[in-house]
Amino acid sequence: MGESAIIIYNVAVVNRGRVRSGAVVVDDGRIAAVDYGTDGVPARDLLAVYPGAAAVDGGGAYLMPGVIDTHVHFREPGLTDKADMVTESAAAVAGGVTSYIDMPNTIPQTTTIGRWEEKMSLAAGRSKANYAFFLGVSSVNVGELLAADYTRVAGIKLFLGSTTGDMMVSDSALIERLLADAPCTIVVHAESEKVIQENMQRLNPDGLADLPVELHSRLRSSQACYESSRSIVGLARKHDALLHIAHVSTAAELPLFTSGPVLGKRVTAETCPQYLLLSDEDWATKGARMKCNPAVKSTADRDALREALRAGLIDTIATDHAPHLLADKEGGALKAKSGMPMVQFSLVKMLDLFDDPALVAEKMCHNPSRLFGIEERGFVDVGMRADLVLVSRRDMPHVITDGDVVSKCGWTPLAGTATDHEVKATLVNGHVVYSVMDGLDAESDTVGEPLRFSPGRR
Ligand SMILES: [Zn+2]
Repeated sequence: MGESAIIIYNVAVVNRGRVRSGAVVVDDGRIAAVDYGTDGVPARDLLAVYPGAAAVDGGGAYLMPGVIDTHVHFREPGLTDKADMVTESAAAVAGGVTSYIDMPNTIPQTTTIGRWEEKMSLAAGRSKANYAFFLGVSSVNVGELLAADYTRVAGIKLFLGSTTGDMMVSDSALIERLLADAPCTIVVHAESEKVIQENMQRLNPDGLADLPVELHSRLRSSQACYESSRSIVGLARKHDALLHIAHVSTAAELPLFTSGPVLGKRVTAETCPQYLLLSDEDWATKGARMKCNPAVKSTADRDALREALRAGLIDTIATDHAPHLLADKEGGALKAKSGMPMVQFSLVKMLDLFDDPALVAEKMCHNPSRLFGIEERGFVDVGMRADLVLVSRRDMPHVITDGDVVSKCGWTPLAGTATDHEVKATLVNGHVVYSVMDGLDAESDTVGEPLRFSPGRR
């Protein structure tokens, strides 16, 4: 055993659908023991087995697997005025996120193995959380995509609608070849550019340079999402592809999905906190801060998405963390940039919303691990890497402000909203990387490692 063993006792361990009081031992970067039923007392047998261990009173907090956020835009390389891997991974661990998968719409775009390797090099020694990167689809790189090593590459991202860093692909023969032959999960941004352009003709017949920001929900309408998702899900089922629809934002798309365990599915779905927390009624107070693609929709959509998570139609919650500077968020529906930071507050806000830590762990920890075949992470199981978060209910609600934000952009669309939960400490690979807990000090070391994947679902 290593000298650095830690026994965290008096915690409610959230794992595999259950919440049980107990203690967890972290040793040599891994979960060495999980001891249930110790009723808040550091079990004597644990102290006997790990005599040099530091014993930390968890104060009754939830101890969960670290969150695996499979949809972030950390903006590096090329957009580092907005964000970079150092600043955003710091925001991640402050929010209990221990691993992330970053999207390819950087500058340059991550559409070749060489550029993917460059991103891996940028993360090595700088990322405070574990990391992986998607390869993006372009009109010319399908051969390279099919030849990549998907034990190291997280998967393929396909944009079927225009958004930040235009990577839109509309060649249907190319898309079908990818669905037929890709050896990994294909994550899709599904919005119909045709429907969006029709909406634009109708809502902006005079070609004004900008429109009121609330029109964003009608330009990027439910129909735009539904048409695109229906089409790509149909093709995925035809080719038996592994397809994951990113950021589902509408009730209309839900009948495209099936309930049941994620490992039994070929077509899966993700939604994001912004679609679960916000609606088009919030434009008046949030303005362009809540502008994102797809757009936030109605309260009926929001409520249907909440229910779909509980019912198993939606498999994962990721953040689509996409920071811009506030200067980029000026203007209305046509001028303000789309995207918002979210990685730091996703866990506490989802615990607030669902009041069901086992459900939150399923959607933010277990299912991301299962769906992408992430090795050794996503569960509080003996032998797994010690990626853990301690999160507790607050005595008094805390009103989030821009001053709380760790991300480089320095603002959050959640400013002014309250949270009842607080991340007390985050461990990555057995190292305490964030802590506001007595008796548990954060180390300054940068310990993020590349994620590894089992391509077993094919
Ligand atoms: Zn995104």
